[in-house]
Amino acid sequence: MNKKTIAIIGGGAAGFFAGINIARNNPNYKVFILEKTVKTLQKVKVSGGGRCNITHHCFDNTQLSKNYPRGEEELLQAFTQFNVKDTISWFAHYGIKLKSESDGRIFPVSNTSQTIIDCFETAFKELNGKVHLNTEVVSLRKVDSIFEISLKNEKTVKADCVIVTCGGANNTGAYDFLKDFNIKLRLPIASLFTFNLKDKSITQLMGLSVANAQVQIKHSNYSQKGVVLVTHWGFSGPCVLKLSAFAAEFLHQNNYQFEIEINWASYFSTQTLFNKILELKNSGTKTWNYITAEVQLPKRLVAYFLTQIAIEPSKKLAETSNKKIEQFCQLVCSSTFEIKGKTTFKEEFVTCGGVDLKEVDIRTMQSKKIKGLYFAGEVLNIDGITGGFNFQAAWTTAYIAAMLKN
Ligand SMILES: Cc1cc2nc3c(=O)[nH]c(=O)nc-3n(C[C@H](O)[C@H](O)[C@H](O)COP(=O)(O)OP(=O)(O)OC[C@H]3O[C@@H](n4cnc5c(N)ncnc54)[C@H](O)[C@@H]3O)c2cc1C
Repeated sequence: MNKKTIAIIGGGAAGFFAGINIARNNPNYKVFILEKTVKTLQKVKVSGGGRCNITHHCFDNTQLSKNYPRGEEELLQAFTQFNVKDTISWFAHYGIKLKSESDGRIFPVSNTSQTIIDCFETAFKELNGKVHLNTEVVSLRKVDSIFEISLKNEKTVKADCVIVTCGGANNTGAYDFLKDFNIKLRLPIASLFTFNLKDKSITQLMGLSVANAQVQIKHSNYSQKGVVLVTHWGFSGPCVLKLSAFAAEFLHQNNYQFEIEINWASYFSTQTLFNKILELKNSGTKTWNYITAEVQLPKRLVAYFLTQIAIEPSKKLAETSNKKIEQFCQLVCSSTFEIKGKTTFKEEFVTCGGVDLKEVDIRTMQSKKIKGLYFAGEVLNIDGITGGFNFQAAWTTAYIAAMLKN
């Protein structure tokens, strides 16, 4: 090989980002992407509901890294090389204007992921990068200092360096092409999913959203606060998705059968709510109708709880026994639900698992065992919650890998 040759396995977000940066830094290198399907950047296309939520408005690396159930520590280090500010500048270099939404998600102003796809494809082409479609890598080995990459079409290509950006997978079989290198893999499992209820009675409230709930997985330390949404199958919403991501491995081990406790008004404990209602009971002629405003919960939810304990909303607090008030407080602050199974969130899902981070030098993204072999993107055991964090991890790791540092 006359020119230094760099092969990239996988034409997704991380593959293109690495490819463009390598070609930009090294105009004399031959850079090519091997993509197993007939189309590149397919996940970018569907990402963020077709708008591509490319990163998150978070400029503090420590805060940013807290959004990664797996990879927090490693990314904290990696963000010193490439973070959200760098992502914004990188896209600005290609004339892509971005906008932040009120929840912190950042999208292209065009509101279409096609803008990002066009940017990547044009930039890579202009830098003389080549894309080979329908080119699945089936094995990889290193002979002397050269990588030999065997393809499904029975051809073999050679490269001086290889960047693996083949994305997440449902099973470790997807990474079989790495087996010659004895790279330690973590079992790929789902992250970001919603909870299916065994007893569906509360689903009569479907569509109901509670802003300040706290969900705790019983017999574990996993707990999150935020918006909980009642669906026709169980519970969803940002709080549940975040909890599913942080507890992904634990829930997988428990075969997605577990119990949760919900405090629907997390600003109260059972005791503080009880004291509050007792105060109201002793101070006048208030009815249960008044409680909806007091606990700041949707009327439908309060009515549902009152039905459970056979209290008419028009009944006076003063005529209600303390026992009933206690039962109400328990329903609000510590309702228990049995979960049986999960539903994968349709808008965005990622897998946790993949290449064990101990295999990789985070300063370079190079394999600790195999010189010249780099990893970036979702193939790594890194995953973030929803909000643009997964792409940010792809940009950061691909940028570092593209420096081809030893
Ligand atoms: C529906 C959906 C919406 C999403 N929306 C967002 C979002 O808005 N914001 C966000 O931050 N994240 C989002 N994500 C997550 C994000 O898309 C991924 O984290 C990101 O695409 C990972 O990039 P990657 O390049 O590592 O992998 P991928 O994008 O998965 O690319 C890997 C590529 O490698 C190819 N490949 C695999 N094996 C081989 C092989 N053996 N040989 C050759 N090629 C191979 C694959 O075909 C694929 O093209 C979303 C995910 C989904 C599924």
